[in-house]
Amino acid sequence: MEKAVYFFGDGSAEGNREMKSLLGGKGANLAEMTSLGLPVPPGFTISTEVCTFFYLNQKQYPQGLETAVDQALQKVETLMGLRFADKNNPLLLSIRSGARVSMPGMMDTVLNLGLNDETVLGLARNADERFAYDSYRRFIQMYSDVVLGVSPHQFENLIEEERRRETVKSDSELTAEALKRLVAGFKKIVLMETGKAFPSDPKAQLWGAISAVFDSWNSARAISYRRIHKISEDWGTAVNVQAMVFGNMGNDCATGVAFTRDPSTGEKRFFGEFLSNAQGEDVVAGIRTPCPINKESANGSDLPTLEGTMPVAYKDLVRTYQILEKHYRDMQDIEFTIQKGKLFMLQTRTGKRTANSAVRIAVDMVNEGLISQTEAILRVTPAQVEQLLHPRLDPRHPKDVIAKGLPASPGAASGEVIFSSEEAEELKKKNKKVILVRHETSPEDIGGMDASEGILTALGGMTSHAAVVARGMGKPCVAGCGSINIDYKNQQFTVGSHKVKKGDILTIDGASGEVILGYVPTINSQLDEYFKAFMTWVDGHRKLQVRANAETPHDVKVARTFGAEGVGLCRTEHMFFEESRIMAVRQMILAESKKHRESALEKIFPMQKEDFKGIFREMRGFPVTIRLLDPPLHEFLPKTDPEIVSIARSLGTSKETIQAKLRSLHEFNPMLGHRGCRLGVSFPEIYSMQVRAIMEAACELIKKEDFKIEPEIMIPFIGAVEEYRLLKSAISAVCEKVLSDQKVQVAFSIGTMIEIPRAALIADKLAEEASFFSFGTNDLTQMTLGLSRDDSGSFLPLYVEKGIYASDPFVSLDQDGVGELVSLACERAKRGNSSIKIGICGEHGGDTSTIEFCNRLGFNYVSCSPFRVPVARLAAAQATLKQKVS
Ligand code: PEP
Ligand code: MG
Repeated sequence: MEKAVYFFGDGSAEGNREMKSLLGGKGANLAEMTSLGLPVPPGFTISTEVCTFFYLNQKQYPQGLETAVDQALQKVETLMGLRFADKNNPLLLSIRSGARVSMPGMMDTVLNLGLNDETVLGLARNADERFAYDSYRRFIQMYSDVVLGVSPHQFENLIEEERRRETVKSDSELTAEALKRLVAGFKKIVLMETGKAFPSDPKAQLWGAISAVFDSWNSARAISYRRIHKISEDWGTAVNVQAMVFGNMGNDCATGVAFTRDPSTGEKRFFGEFLSNAQGEDVVAGIRTPCPINKESANGSDLPTLEGTMPVAYKDLVRTYQILEKHYRDMQDIEFTIQKGKLFMLQTRTGKRTANSAVRIAVDMVNEGLISQTEAILRVTPAQVEQLLHPRLDPRHPKDVIAKGLPASPGAASGEVIFSSEEAEELKKKNKKVILVRHETSPEDIGGMDASEGILTALGGMTSHAAVVARGMGKPCVAGCGSINIDYKNQQFTVGSHKVKKGDILTIDGASGEVILGYVPTINSQLDEYFKAFMTWVDGHRKLQVRANAETPHDVKVARTFGAEGVGLCRTEHMFFEESRIMAVRQMILAESKKHRESALEKIFPMQKEDFKGIFREMRGFPVTIRLLDPPLHEFLPKTDPEIVSIARSLGTSKETIQAKLRSLHEFNPMLGHRGCRLGVSFPEIYSMQVRAIMEAACELIKKEDFKIEPEIMIPFIGAVEEYRLLKSAISAVCEKVLSDQKVQVAFSIGTMIEIPRAALIADKLAEEASFFSFGTNDLTQMTLGLSRDDSGSFLPLYVEKGIYASDPFVSLDQDGVGELVSLACERAKRGNSSIKIGICGEHGGDTSTIEFCNRLGFNYVSCSPFRVPVARLAAAQATLKQKVS
């Protein structure tokens, strides 16, 4: 390792914003802000490579690290005109962790490091006593919690005692004497809990904190956070050591956090919160309720604003945020401290935002000339578009609003009230929906939040842990709902005259902040003008067509409104399942002769024809692929006694005859049995009826409704060329007959699904006969992996947890295995038929990484469920843009 420590201060820095992998997000941006000439307290970053070294070498540090740290520290001392560990004029440090991406699961911050019984006296002499001891007690409290692992509640109890003794409401009102007592009390707690005195040597404190940051990379909660957010174990964290500036020196001091645009709506307004006479952690921890930095952030409250109370510093802050936003060309989330009226910047990073806000900011920034359309498209994630399609409360339904908190993360959800994260995780395993209710949340709650439908907290602001994490997870969250009184012991909360107990149903609306008693149904959100503009750009940048898997006119209509450009898979068997048709379907299957079967099929025919007409109408002008009947016949068969009796009666036969027939239809492995085109081979009259319905529907629409339509008839489950030829010729004959009877010209095409590995291997020969291929990756995955789609649920999650498969192969295409087969089939297909149309219609068709894969292979389209269409459109555009870049 050539260099382990990177200095920043006084307008120049050894790092920059591009060095996030080495310096972590925080370190890289501190360096960048310093170089921009912004007021950043000097400091240095110990790189992530040191973290990697630390873990590879039994927690040893690389040679020369200590010297490099000492040298960097000396530079900080010189710039600050103070000395670390100096009794008269002590330099204090802040130590903060910082990985490549923000990770609330890790040790975050230790402030005021360098204080002991002697240096505190120097600090008191230079500033004032109350401030010095406030900083000292904060230091012991934080250091004990995050470095020594002493549980914070004992410290909180002591503070509470002092508040009572001094009859004050907040910590900032405690006197110097009270704070001195706290320091002594805290040290006793540490001795009792750890068996060792609190470390008084500043150097030992510093190395203790550095080690704790590196250790925290592998804490249980950090590992859990990485697992949920798919962050690599190998990245490691950096450590940022920086000179302290103080927001707790008096009433001309403050600390706060802000967003350069509204992170909830995306509106172009400076938005944030601050606390006067406080240190950074107070804002995030939700201990005191923060004040808005300006009127725009006030949400109707009449709390004092920063703009009003410290106008000069506020002006500086506005100038700084504008510089940052212009420089980073993105919405920033900033942390600042004001010491004696002077502004200092402690952090800037790309602000987390809701899906709505992501789209609006991207569109606004293009219109402001700040970014290009391409950048805008790449900035909104497919997951955010998915979030946009999230439900909101049905306004027609009455609601019993019992409280209102901050609208911290949009979306609405109902569930059973639960007060602990562990229980939330337990109940999730039992498929229960829960709303997690807490005073506030901390990184330990990540698992519980993930398991909940929504989160409600009594404390904390819009930038509290609960708010930020929920927004990232796309879960509804109502934060800072001060009117609820939580009683963990009795597992209930009260608000006004209401008592809400564990297990009661609660609804929260993260967009309005409303807390509602009981269940309220939800509907999907309206997609606004920003979304429409954004999606128009998206569509201009993609090569892949996006179709939908849909089989009812209603679903096809929904798919159209989401921008589907055709139906990629219409599973006709779904039409057979309908209540009104099932009797005829059963008659068809159980019929003793072809004649009886045909007469049953005649009953189904008009219904199918009407279905197809409805679908064609909704998809007017776009292609529709209709798959002929696929599933095993026994799925339609009667199971209960009354059903058997009823079908026997309708066929004029005995119950026993039907039972015998049912036994004969039993299959040991129906997924590999008499299904798909095998039914078409055994009972050609089924496919004939379906094809006739498709073609007559098309002809009638063309004749009567002036339509242009080209039905695509798809044969499922093909495994042999002869099998395909046989069916294709039967289908063509029916088509030609309908066309000649109806005297209309309809361009139709016939193709197949690639679902059986053998079909992939003989793709060249099949392609000579087929107009199109659609990869049925559900079955192709099942058969390639030898993994039953219906039975793997009980053990497959373990495979993913153990890393045997990187992700569930039924969700995201197994590119190394199934993907190889797909790629080989594409290559062979093009060899057999250079103009063959290729698509995908398995569930993978809506998965981002699979879409990228299909784009790479030059597919014509992907097809997915209607609600995923916008997600797929974006993923397809991003795939094209990324391919161009690489
Ligand atoms: C498939 O196998 O991927 C497919 C789309 O067909 P089904 O899910 O209906 O078997
Ligand atoms: Mg299939």
